[in-house]
Amino acid sequence: MLDKFKREINYLRVSITDRCNLRCVYCMPKEGVSLIGHEDILSYEEMLRIIRIARKLGIVKVRVTGGEPLVRRGVTEFLAALGKLGLEDISLTTNGILLESLADPIRKAGVGRINVSLDSLDPARYARITRGGDLAAVLRGLEQADRAGFSPIKINVVTVKDFNDDEAIQFARLTMGKPYEIRFIELMPIGGKNDNADKYVSNDELMERIGRLGRLLPVESGKQEKNFRGPARRFRLEGARGVVGFISPISHNFCHACNRLRLTADGGLRACLMVDGEVDLKTPMRRGCTDEELELLIRQAIVSKPRGQHTDGSGEDCSRRKCAREMSTIGG
Ligand code: SAM
Ligand code: SF4
Repeated sequence: MLDKFKREINYLRVSITDRCNLRCVYCMPKEGVSLIGHEDILSYEEMLRIIRIARKLGIVKVRVTGGEPLVRRGVTEFLAALGKLGLEDISLTTNGILLESLADPIRKAGVGRINVSLDSLDPARYARITRGGDLAAVLRGLEQADRAGFSPIKINVVTVKDFNDDEAIQFARLTMGKPYEIRFIELMPIGGKNDNADKYVSNDELMERIGRLGRLLPVESGKQEKNFRGPARRFRLEGARGVVGFISPISHNFCHACNRLRLTADGGLRACLMVDGEVDLKTPMRRGCTDEELELLIRQAIVSKPRGQHTDGSGEDCSRRKCAREMSTIGG
C-alpha cells in the first residue's frame, strides 16, 4: 500500500520481546529498565494475525527483532508459523549470543537472512559496550550461522565515538577473508535516558578512514535490496570477499525512500522510528475486533506516516528528533 507521500510500504519490523540478555550502552539503561508486563506483550498468535492482515495490504518482508528475539520462548515455532504466511522475505536481527545453538533451527524454520549486531572485536571492549557480553559466544554463533547456510551474513556495527570508532578499519579488513557484509550504523538519539548526541560519528568520516585501506568499489544492490530499497550504501574493498555498507540515518537521511512500519512488542504500530505516535492494535484485538477493523487500523498507521526530511530540505527532519521509547522496545 502507498502512503500519502507515494512511498510503497512493504516492510514490517516486528519486535517480539523487549527483554534482552545484554545491555548495550546506547540501547538500554544500565539498570532500572522498565520492562513491559508479560500480559502486555503480544502473544505469537496476535502477532501472526497482524502480519497476516498486513500482508494483504502489501507487506511482503518481515524482520523479527527485539529486545533480543532469541530469548523469547517458542521463537523457532513462531518463525516456522511466520514462514507459512506466504511472505517473500523473513529475516532476523540478533545479538548472536544464543546463535550457536539456534542457527540451525531458525534456518530450518524458514529465516532467509540474518543480521548479527557486533560492535567490537576486542573481548574486553565488547563486554564493556554490551555490559557483560561474551564475544566468543557471538563468534561461535557467526560460524554456526555460516554452516547453517545463511548468506549473506550481515554484521551491524553501531559506531560510538571514542569507544569503537577506531575499529572501523579492523571490521572492514574482515571482509577481505570473510563474505560478511559489515554495516556501519550511525548512532541515533533514541530512548529517554540515552542522550548520546556527543557520541555520534558520521559515516563519511569512517568511509574516509576505510578508503585508506584500498579502493572502495560501489556495489550494485542485489535484487533483494532493490525490491526493498535498503538504506545501506554498499562498497567492496578491492579484492575483498565481503562488502562494507554504511547506514547513515543522521548524515544521509533516507526518509524519502522509507518503506517500513514497526510493530512494538506491546502491540503499537509505529509508522516512524523517530516519531512517538503509534496506533494501538493490542487493545482493539483484545476487545474482539474483526479482521476488517484491524485492517483499518493498519491502514491508519500507514496513512499517518510522517514525511520526514526531503533532500530539498522540505519536511520535518525526523532523524534529529529524539524518540522517547527505548530502542529495545521498538527493535531498531
Ligand atoms: N537485540 C538485537 C540486536 O542487538 O541485534 C535486536 C534488537 S536491536 C534494538 C536492533 C539494532 O538496533 C541493533 O543492531 C542495535 O545495534 C541497533 N541500535 C540500538 N540502539 C541504537 C541506537 N541508539 N542507534 C543506532 N542503532 C541502534
Ligand atoms: Fe539488547 Fe540489541 Fe539493545 Fe544490545 S542493541 S541491548 S543486544 S536489544
